[in-house]
Amino acid sequence: MSIIPYARQNLSDEDIESVLDVLRSDYLTQGPKVPEFEQLLAEKVNAEHAVATNSATSALHIACLSLGLSSKDYLWTSANTFVASANCGLYCGAHIDFVDIDPETWNLSIPALELKLLQAEKENRLPKVLVAVDFAGQPVEQEMIKNLSNRFRFKVIEDASHALGASRNNRKVGSGCWADITVFSFHPVKIITTGEGGMAVTNNENYAQHMRLLRSHGITRDSELLFEQSQGPWYYEQQMLGFNYRMTDIQAALGINQLHRIDSFIANRIELANRYLELLDSAPLQLPFVQKENNSAWHLFVILFEKPSKHRMVFDYLRNSNIGVNLHYRPVYLQPYYQKMGFNHGYCPVAEDYANRAISLPIFPTLTFENQQFVIDKINQII
Ligand SMILES: *Cc1c(COP(=O)(O)O)cnc(C)c1O
Repeated sequence: MSIIPYARQNLSDEDIESVLDVLRSDYLTQGPKVPEFEQLLAEKVNAEHAVATNSATSALHIACLSLGLSSKDYLWTSANTFVASANCGLYCGAHIDFVDIDPETWNLSIPALELKLLQAEKENRLPKVLVAVDFAGQPVEQEMIKNLSNRFRFKVIEDASHALGASRNNRKVGSGCWADITVFSFHPVKIITTGEGGMAVTNNENYAQHMRLLRSHGITRDSELLFEQSQGPWYYEQQMLGFNYRMTDIQAALGINQLHRIDSFIANRIELANRYLELLDSAPLQLPFVQKENNSAWHLFVILFEKPSKHRMVFDYLRNSNIGVNLHYRPVYLQPYYQKMGFNHGYCPVAEDYANRAISLPIFPTLTFENQQFVIDKINQII
């Protein structure tokens, strides 16, 4: 039997056809597909502006820069996330710090955040940017973060790499009611894919314009944005130091077709999540808890064992049974690179306890009920 992965892309014949169409066309990059994908995604999440990039990591980087993050500043994020949510701050030379998580939602804890902000205020080192991560596809407690950001004057980037298609209080993640900029990922394990790719959305025109420049070397040809008079049709200006973080039209075409299919992807994920919740209900496990305000995109389905002592044994047993279970995440600050900056064990105890007990089970639209049942049976056998 082949391995059942924890996540997998879902590509249809039309998806593949849409890519081939671009390969046969005039533009492989900087053609019509990227703006079309941006507009479609902006409409889907109710955002005013969207800037496509070659990854969510790039989008996080230029989001930080457009919010003015520099080497004098602090960026805070959740301890329970992928390293990119913190690395984007390091790219800007900023100092990084981590907030502990809520023991039930596994998103950053609002009481922990508030306490840390009060302490930082006394020490005059409040963060400039908070990267709030919608872990597993469940939106963070946006309105509470908004209140704290008004009170302590920091900007918010919502890292919604897991949460395209999710909503809170019936408002789409990315609609910009509270975050300054929201970022999505299109890596193959995520909700929709472009191979590699990302998107930053915002309702702030200045941020959007700044991110468009940074995405492509700091260069513009837009006559309304030029510093000097145009000298002819060849004329462009580099106005700041940017990067090549552009998405190709090949990727954007795939993204457009994938985005047309997102509602069925999410419906499949919800169905699988509900089956896990029902069929693992009596097992001695902590199951995911979704707040009533939230509709999760169910990027991940994480279970927590009661005792850390069984974690490794169960993990190995499931891997040996051809189930591609995974761990999301070891706290970022425990990575050797971050430990070298001075972070130690015990810094965010809830996130560490979580990581000692968590296992991500397979969840993706093409997971069959039969394979899901196999996973459930194996878990029941071992515990
Ligand atoms: C996947 C992921 C990223 C990075 O996305 P890329 O598109 O691979 O750069 C960032 N943050 C989180 C939380 C992620 O899961």
